Amino acid sequence: MSSATEHVKCLIIGSGPAGYTAAIYAARADLRPVLYTGIVMGGQLTQTTEVENYPGYPDGIRGPEMMENFRKQAERLGTDIRFGYITAVDFSGLPHKVVVDETTTITADTVIISTGATAKWLGLESEQKYNGFGVSACAVCDGFFFKGQDVAIVGAGDTAAEEATYLAKLCRKVYMLARRNEFRASKAMVSRVLNTPNIELLYDTETKEILGDGLNVTGVKVINNKTNATTDLQVTGFFVAIGHHPNTDIFRDWIDMDAVGYIKTRPGSSLTNVEGVFCCGDAQDHIYRQAITAAGSGCVAAIDAERYLAGKEHLVTA
Ligand code: NDP
Repeated sequence: MSSATEHVKCLIIGSGPAGYTAAIYAARADLRPVLYTGIVMGGQLTQTTEVENYPGYPDGIRGPEMMENFRKQAERLGTDIRFGYITAVDFSGLPHKVVVDETTTITADTVIISTGATAKWLGLESEQKYNGFGVSACAVCDGFFFKGQDVAIVGAGDTAAEEATYLAKLCRKVYMLARRNEFRASKAMVSRVLNTPNIELLYDTETKEILGDGLNVTGVKVINNKTNATTDLQVTGFFVAIGHHPNTDIFRDWIDMDAVGYIKTRPGSSLTNVEGVFCCGDAQDHIYRQAITAAGSGCVAAIDAERYLAGKEHLVTA
């Protein structure tokens, strides 16, 4: 790691609701935060269309526009927002070191990790084409748009089971597509699915193509991988629930994580196992994964960082 060219009090990594909210609070606490946006400036919400469940927007708002509002607010309050990608960190001692775009090393008294998570996709061209126009990776975010309609959900883990039952309350019918002849989900979740009459389970079923009229989803072509029989299901919504990957690989050598890579935080706080390093948003939350919960946890991280720094100043002057 090259020698540092700059020192900052509070470095925030990531530009989703968690990162920008941490920036708003850190800036107002006079921590002069520097925020690196990452490659997808604005995070996962820039890939959605309408957001209706974020309080304060009575008529809903488009995801990219909402994230632009977050950015402007963080900037107006004094955050130094930079387009760049953190490629390595060294948390072996204080101050912490981070490398930007493989070239510049910066040191920081506090680091707030808000790098988020990425939904896994099937990898079909039609899935990309209709993403936001019937294809979604979040039932809680987008299920409402399919009220009274027929939808399909792919996956057989806890997320898929939970989201299928959530969708079943809103939609007329939910096809659940499991690629094997069994679930990965826990027994309790499976029994909820099996006891929901408007969920039709299709085992040994894979998605071949998402069908559409050029604008919106109109159906899904599935194949039974035992019989090779294909079927077109008439649906207007297609939900992908095959897991998420937290964007935490660069922290693996330093921070405690679970087996999947979600960063462990001390319950009720954003504290990680490393002094002065805090984590918020989807990088540490595999359960709720909502813009509002991410934003709330960003606030927590900034307050934790501010209190940590205040404690250090107290020690220096004592
Ligand atoms: P999981 O990895 O547990 O499950 C992924 C599911 O998607 C599996 O059924 C898998 O099939 C299927 N899948 C993967 N790739 C494909 C593909 N290309 N095509 C079709 N199907 C595919 O992810 P989850 O998001 O469900 O859960 C992640 C973690 O979060 C788990 O530990 C889970 O228990 C936890 N969780 C807990 C909740 C709760 O407690 N309320 C709620 C939600 C999640 P296969 O089984 O064949 O590999």
